Amino acid sequence: MQNGGKKTMAIEWVKLYECGYCTHPEKIVHPKAGLKPVKFPATVALIKHETKGYILFDTGYAQRFLSATEKFPYSLYRKLTPVFFSEEQAIVNQLAADGITPDEITTIILSHFHGDHTAGLKDFPQAEIITFRKGYEDIENNSKLRALTKGCLLDLLPADFKSRVRFIDDQQPVALSNLGDFHEGFTVIDDDVSIVAVDLTGHAIGQFGIFIRLKSGKVLFLCADAVWSSRAYEKLVYPHIMANLLIADKRAYVHHIQRLHSLMHTHPDIDILPTHCQVTWNKIQKGEIYE
Ligand SMILES: [Zn+2]
Repeated sequence: MQNGGKKTMAIEWVKLYECGYCTHPEKIVHPKAGLKPVKFPATVALIKHETKGYILFDTGYAQRFLSATEKFPYSLYRKLTPVFFSEEQAIVNQLAADGITPDEITTIILSHFHGDHTAGLKDFPQAEIITFRKGYEDIENNSKLRALTKGCLLDLLPADFKSRVRFIDDQQPVALSNLGDFHEGFTVIDDDVSIVAVDLTGHAIGQFGIFIRLKSGKVLFLCADAVWSSRAYEKLVYPHIMANLLIADKRAYVHHIQRLHSLMHTHPDIDILPTHCQVTWNKIQKGEIYE
């Protein structure tokens, strides 16, 4: 992640959390599998940055997701994707258990606007929200029902969203090197290249992932929903036609799977962490902290 004149501030550590899960028939992600429901955890990352303090990547499920989806039309969302969540799994409560207050979260990086990523936003009223303009513009003027067909619950966005958001895709992209087929991205914090967002439009318009370079030199790629499961890029398994409803741009989606596949081979030292993957979940259950 070198580029002319940009600096790399230190990321001290990254900790992952599971904030509830939903279920889908396995066939959606693996066409050769059956209709048995499988679990897709909603994971969140907490990043400790040397100068910015605590930064969240996405916000998982929260109690308000359940209340918001009780009534029609939002109840359709719950019927399609049954959600399993208990209050103590809300990221705000898990952070409290770790001694971190909501006001200490300075920044929330929002990969896209699906409900399982936005539900916890209102718990952090002080945080600056960093996302892509093209993701927001895709849902901004939609009716609630139209947004719902794209997986977004507009009621989950804070009322002051517009005054707290910063769209990083308005910036000039920076050139990336030594990250496989990912050649450019957007710095998340000023001109600091320790966290760089790359456009992964496919699953949703304006969805992005982040490369994180830790103080130790270790690199993580939080690729959000570019794939649901790491098996997709490991074995080049493309989603079932049923999943087309859940994918905004299928061609781009397939292209990202191929880029992840090649990154896995050229950079086996980079940990690729999809938000809803069982492998990511296993790491959380082991209490792994990246340093
Ligand atoms: Zn999503």
